Amino acid sequence: MIASISSCMSIKLEETEEMSTFTIKDTDKNPKHHGQFQVSLFKSDSKLLCSCCRFELSGQLCRHCFYVLRMESVEIYPKAMYQQDG
Ligand SMILES: [Zn+2]
Repeated sequence: MIASISSCMSIKLEETEEMSTFTIKDTDKNPKHHGQFQVSLFKSDSKLLCSCCRFELSGQLCRHCFYVLRMESVEIYPKAMYQQDG
């Protein structure tokens, strides 16, 4: 999945005091993934939300989020995004 980051492209960035909103264009050949998605990065708690809702549905970060994390060089990954065993 992480390799698929290469199909993502940031086409727009809106920044406010509380959050950055990236518009990500996914150029994947698979029409299921193809399209534009909005990833919001909340600065207060480094929480990420993507309009594809993958995290809400499966508990896994989507590549749009990974793309934003990589772009932003976020080193401390949001705790909430990692569900630890036990
Ligand atoms: Zn996504």
